[in-house]
Amino acid sequence: MAKIRREDTVLVIKGKERGKTGVVRQVVPRQRRVIVTGVNIVKRHMRPRADRPGGIIEREAPIHVSNVMVICKSCSKPTRVGFRFRDGGGKVRFCHQCDQPLD
Ligand SMILES: [Zn+2]
Repeated sequence: MAKIRREDTVLVIKGKERGKTGVVRQVVPRQRRVIVTGVNIVKRHMRPRADRPGGIIEREAPIHVSNVMVICKSCSKPTRVGFRFRDGGGKVRFCHQCDQPLD
């Protein structure tokens, strides 16, 4: 089960964009990477094709999950994520700072 999911707000803790926050737009589980809105924007030089013009487009490149921390909705702090088993079965994520569930 993933510690970081789509729609989570995360803080970048490594790299040149350290300190930025953004919302996870996409998770790439196989690479353990996430695409965060507004973070790690790269310019790509696209060749023109029939369906679209060429030129330079900007898009977010995936960053590794170890370089971000989830920001808790309850306490607004960047936190480590823990897991707990629910009574009815299934796991739920919780915040290590304030102990509230993250989902
Ligand atoms: Zn919290």
